[in-house]
Amino acid sequence: MSQYDVIVIGGGPGGYVAAIRAAQLGLKTACVEGRETLGGTCLNVGCIPSKALLHASHQLHEAEHNFAKMGLKGKTPSVDWKQMLSYKDDVIGQNTKGIEFLFKKNKVEWLKGWGSIPEAGKVKVGDDVYEAKNILIASGSEVASVPGADVTVDNDKGVVVDSTGALALPKIPKKMIVIGAGVIGLEMGSVYKRLGAEVQVIEFLDHVTPGMDAEVQKQFQKILTKQGLEFTMGAAVSKVEATANKATVTYTLRKDESEHTAEADVVLVATGRKPFTDGLGLDALGIEMTKRGQIAVNDAWKTNVDGIYAIGDVVEGPMLAHKAEDEGMAAAEVIAGKHGHVNYNVIPSVIYTTPEVAAVGKTEAQLKEEGKAYKVGKFSFMGNGRAKAMFQGEGFVKLLADKDTDRILGCHIIGPMAGDLIHEICVGMEFGASAEDIALTCHAHPTFSEAVREAALACGDGAIHA
Ligand code: FAD
Repeated sequence: MSQYDVIVIGGGPGGYVAAIRAAQLGLKTACVEGRETLGGTCLNVGCIPSKALLHASHQLHEAEHNFAKMGLKGKTPSVDWKQMLSYKDDVIGQNTKGIEFLFKKNKVEWLKGWGSIPEAGKVKVGDDVYEAKNILIASGSEVASVPGADVTVDNDKGVVVDSTGALALPKIPKKMIVIGAGVIGLEMGSVYKRLGAEVQVIEFLDHVTPGMDAEVQKQFQKILTKQGLEFTMGAAVSKVEATANKATVTYTLRKDESEHTAEADVVLVATGRKPFTDGLGLDALGIEMTKRGQIAVNDAWKTNVDGIYAIGDVVEGPMLAHKAEDEGMAAAEVIAGKHGHVNYNVIPSVIYTTPEVAAVGKTEAQLKEEGKAYKVGKFSFMGNGRAKAMFQGEGFVKLLADKDTDRILGCHIIGPMAGDLIHEICVGMEFGASAEDIALTCHAHPTFSEAVREAALACGDGAIHA
């Protein structure tokens, strides 16, 4: 029987990163993955394919709406959907193969198949049983259904789909209904809107992107509405009925309890994800779970069973690839007898629409709830020369700092490259920076980053270009 120091179950961003780090730290490591390719949800049906389609459809938007303004005239490209999907599949292939290469380079063995844990210290894959001093569960998440509604997703039929189906539709729909105005729904809704579909987003709450800064939510919905997405807010979906090429969504408006229906040729169910633990045998092992079906772990990612750890989407916290990766590295370090570190106060979240939306740290609502005195430095991208040159002046940077100490508490950005800009604030927060530290740092001109500095200046004596 093969023996390992660590067997990781799941080859997503949490699992593969943990396996590589464990091997780098000198541990004999294997990773069990049941999919045909490594990389998990993120590389196969999540972050990477969605960003490929966002990139391609953004280029089309630029050609249709902005090229002529810059004197770039000529025929606007038409969409070859098959080719766009094959570009997306190439991008996936390059990335998943890349992880296979990294496994070989770091001497991580890939045990192909679905794994279970028959007892602590053992992992079963197919008919083979392997011994492991430590087992790390990184089995990720799966799509959750619409709470309280009668909906059957069938990605093969391509009428009522989840995000996986939406990344591989047989054709671009004339009309798409997106149930859920969260990150995935709005990213995919943007893609199909830019590709020519009519897109209606139906959301239970009265605002988009739950948990984000309220001003960002409002501005984001306004911009997406301007781009042509239609929003039906405060609407509880009760059922989705599908025929071979159409679906009807029934929903009740919460404000007056009135019932409505809407029809589309594709309905995308994007109401969230839930932890995936099927087939692992956790019940028999007596592994403690949270009320939300996540594996319960302590601050060293240990479960209640000795030698079994868990990380990523299958445990508590934001379901994000980089959170899973950070936990993967940290848990591997703990297993190797070192100190693993994840700062849960500084985990950025990003929406990759145009404009992008990014956030880190506290929102104003959270600070108010905590009774913390804070100040706000806000700067509009209208005052940023580079953003205006690229027709992206609509957003803003909002920096929140402690009223007394000036220490940065949070940052919320809607605007060009927000997902990259946020990291200067993440680094700042890791180092305990004040808003003044950012304001005193020379920022190159003309860059989008100047807007971040201006927001920091606005926390003090005032922005210059406001
Ligand atoms: P997963 O990536 O889900 O990987 C788990 C792996 O474990 C899977 O490959 C599964 O096959 C395997 N597995 C499970 N059980 C077993 C078993 N018993 N035996 C063997 N293998 C098993 N996050 C971001 O940060 N940025 C984004 O832009 C982003 N975009 C997204 C877009 C979409 C459409 C979706 C669906 C998700 C997106 N996410 C994004 C979320 C991100 O994909 C997840 O947070 C991330 O993949 C979680 O990593 P993980 O390693 O915990 O789990």
